[in-house]
Amino acid sequence: MHSHFDPERKKILVTGGAGFLGSHLCGQLLAQGHAVLCLDNYFTGSKENIRPLLDHPLFEAIRHDIVHPIDLEVHQIYNLACPASPVHYQFDPVRTVQANVLGVTHMLELARRTKARILQASTSEVYGDPKVHPQPESYWGNVNPIGLRSCYDEGKRVAETLMMDYHRQYQVDIRIIRIFNTYGPRMALNDGRVVSNFILQALQGKEITVYGDGSQTRSFCYVDDLIEGMIRMMETPGLTGPVNLGNPGEFTVLELAEKIIALTGSRSKIVYRPLPQDDPTQRRPDITLAKQALSWEPTIRLEAGLKRTIDYFEQSLLGQKEMTVRSAARPVRAKQNGNGDSIPLPKTATPPRSASRLPNGAVRRAS
Ligand code: NAD
Ligand code: UDP
Repeated sequence: MHSHFDPERKKILVTGGAGFLGSHLCGQLLAQGHAVLCLDNYFTGSKENIRPLLDHPLFEAIRHDIVHPIDLEVHQIYNLACPASPVHYQFDPVRTVQANVLGVTHMLELARRTKARILQASTSEVYGDPKVHPQPESYWGNVNPIGLRSCYDEGKRVAETLMMDYHRQYQVDIRIIRIFNTYGPRMALNDGRVVSNFILQALQGKEITVYGDGSQTRSFCYVDDLIEGMIRMMETPGLTGPVNLGNPGEFTVLELAEKIIALTGSRSKIVYRPLPQDDPTQRRPDITLAKQALSWEPTIRLEAGLKRTIDYFEQSLLGQKEMTVRSAARPVRAKQNGNGDSIPLPKTATPPRSASRLPNGAVRRAS
């Protein structure tokens, strides 16, 4: 009988593996010959994202929520399990804090027991609304501890603290990366982040919703570049981090809207909406450390990355349309996403004010 047992092969756990970044990471690790265990609770991820991997003999998927402990045998852990878009992480803020405190503790305990190396997907949000620009790793940040974003920002900061303390106290082999805004194919259509919102609005001929006056800046990294940096960080000996990973190209949100309108040839008009609470005014990574320590820097320019992302969204919208036509021809039936949950056709997400829309599109009623 053919066996896939190979004592040299690494078994790698990717939590949040069915999400946007996680699914790209799983694909890349499999391509490098590793065995991959994808763990996800499908809160914002989807089985659709990992469908192409399901037949791979070295790929396995587990439905599990990291706020509960789990025991596995692995050599490396990439901890990505946490909703990443403001709309999603503010939907159930207590759960977001738990994913970062309980979830990260459980992953660190697993790493401690199995002696696995563990990489934490931290974020530029640890810098809050930065007073230092661009942001080097040495900057401690400017975070509101009690605002709407703090469940995520402070959650991720505590996650970094736990990583460092497990390293100092129990010698766990850790890696911390601080990811700056990353975009690309497989961002959820209802994600609510700026790139997915603008592309969807432009393709559907809807108004492009710029929050505030659009002068706030972000730096956008294409997913393939980010995954390359993430794997390099995991494989680099003796470097705990934190290390910033992101594209230092900096654009205003208005510039991004104009670029997307031009690239899609859309006739959508720009409209202005209120700026969400504590929205950072500027953000750009200082990637000197990543360049030196990982020989890494992004290679994909914004326009090239946006074109690939627009193609993906076009295909996804076509797929949704076909599904609607087919189900309209049959007796009434809920449309399904990859998780078996009912979803409406994609709507662009709006910023959470009284938080009401579930990631799968369902509406939570005010009590
Ligand atoms: P995503 O929402 O697509 O992926 C998160 C994944 O984690 C989803 O598949 C979700 O179902 C899963 N998940 C959430 N809570 C979970 C839990 N408690 N247990 C198990 N699974 C859970 O977002 P993403 O953009 O792929 O982000 C992945 C990671 O990278 C996150 O930790 C995020 O904070 C971090 N990050 C992303 C960006 C970015 O721009 N994409 C920037 C900074 C940090
Ligand atoms: N934004 C916007 N319109 C949208 C979605 C977001 O103007 O439809 C703005 C948002 O206010 C922020 C920036 O785009 O200034 C990036 O938002 P995103 O949610 O993608 O990520 P953040 O960096 O804020 O976590």
